[in-house]
Amino acid sequence: VTRRSIASVNPYNDEVLAEFPAMTDEEAGRAVAAAHQAFQEWRSLAPAERAAVVGRAASLMRERREELARTVTLEMGKLIGESRGEADLSADILSYYAEHGPAFLADRPLPVEEGNAVVANRPLGALLGIMPWNYPLYQVARFAAPNLVAGNTILLKHASNCPQSALALERLFHDAGAPPGVYVNLFLPSARVGTVIDDPLIQGVSLTGSDRAGAGAAERAGRNIEKTVLELGGSDPFIVLDTEDFDRTVEAAAVGRLSNMGQSCVSAKRMILLPHVYRRFVEELRRRFEALVPGDPLDPDTTLGPLSSEQAAANLVSQVRDTVAQGATLVTGGDRIGRPGAFVQPTILTDVRPGMRAYREELFGPVAVIYQVADENEAVALANDTPYGLGGAVFCRDLDRARRVAERLDAGMVWINHPTSSHPALPFGGIKCSGYGRELADLGIEEFVNKKLIRTF
Ligand code: NAP
Repeated sequence: VTRRSIASVNPYNDEVLAEFPAMTDEEAGRAVAAAHQAFQEWRSLAPAERAAVVGRAASLMRERREELARTVTLEMGKLIGESRGEADLSADILSYYAEHGPAFLADRPLPVEEGNAVVANRPLGALLGIMPWNYPLYQVARFAAPNLVAGNTILLKHASNCPQSALALERLFHDAGAPPGVYVNLFLPSARVGTVIDDPLIQGVSLTGSDRAGAGAAERAGRNIEKTVLELGGSDPFIVLDTEDFDRTVEAAAVGRLSNMGQSCVSAKRMILLPHVYRRFVEELRRRFEALVPGDPLDPDTTLGPLSSEQAAANLVSQVRDTVAQGATLVTGGDRIGRPGAFVQPTILTDVRPGMRAYREELFGPVAVIYQVADENEAVALANDTPYGLGGAVFCRDLDRARRVAERLDAGMVWINHPTSSHPALPFGGIKCSGYGRELADLGIEEFVNKKLIRTF
């Protein structure tokens, strides 16, 4: 298996589970034409008819929960309990848009002096979704559900390391009654996606992934005047201002940093603590990190699974090693664990300073960086000193104070007294290098629609 091929490799034991040939450019072009063709019919259905298809997809996702969860775990190493949780959340997103989507799309009358004026939400056409492997079901659900209800058709280029999830999703929408061409899987390596973006039949591109990928896709889309939504990386602050609820706060930090083995855009990657909290917090977090038990992610007793790939594990360890070489303190972890598979020790770094790799780069795995700051102002300044602006969390019993700090964070989402999370009815997205646009909630259905004015006299 070469790095560029489209293959399912179990990161727990390096077993090659399946390989798929990439489409030729001609095949990809035919898929785009099919999606464009399907759009002509799909757009003419009532929103409620399209919502019914998405609602059936939600039911099928619940029926197929176990099979989907297993596929995700085998392909990218997620702990099986978390894979089930991802299937549940994805089904909830499908249900949410099936239920609320048509109302979100309703015409909006505008006050005018004479006659009337209405803004209608109309679909744009065939969209390209480019999605990452970290939540293979959820990322697709939050792009596909609103856009299918809105009347767009979808070409889905999934990450090259989760092709079985990609096929399972295509089958799911097909079985739910999406007509041919309404949801089409594209097996294409990222190097060849540009030709699809260049296709004049494509009306928009949504990418979730790294800032590098987002810039590449948006640059190409820009040349073609195609609208984009970018959901990119993050290096979220997790700010602790008091210790009144110490155990809950440390538990939230551990969950915030370690869920999905730390491979989440909104992980609590930078913990920022006031002096009176610092020492105890570092010790408690270390205890929790060191208590994780490595094993097969299909085994429900495993608490430390592999990362998504050998390459991901090697990259993360090199970021940690370089940061330590630059003078940071390694509190625990810092290396691979002595067994096959893409395992990395849960790691804590302190004394990280500007100029070190871990200060600016996103750490996509089980590595916490803990900072000590003198006061609230320093906490805010450090939190905002990053290229990213996705999420953030503030822990403090005094809610006025917590909201004051939340107000000052340059981020798309701030959660108070809870690790950053995702819910179908809450908007998700960032600013700065974390991208632009929003997914989920009512905002998520408004990105790829023509807000069309009909003015009548
Ligand atoms: P990645 O390498 O950027 O890959 C994501 C997707 O983009 C894959 O389908 C990939 O295809 C494709 N891709 C890569 N380069 C591209 C290019 N130049 N043009 C078009 N498509 C391209 O992402 P990753 O490192 O695997 O995923 C983790 C990143 O995603 C992290 O930075 C994480 O924070 C971010 N993320 C953000 C959110 C959010 O909502 N903001 C959510 C989850 C993850 P191939 O697989 O074929 O290379």
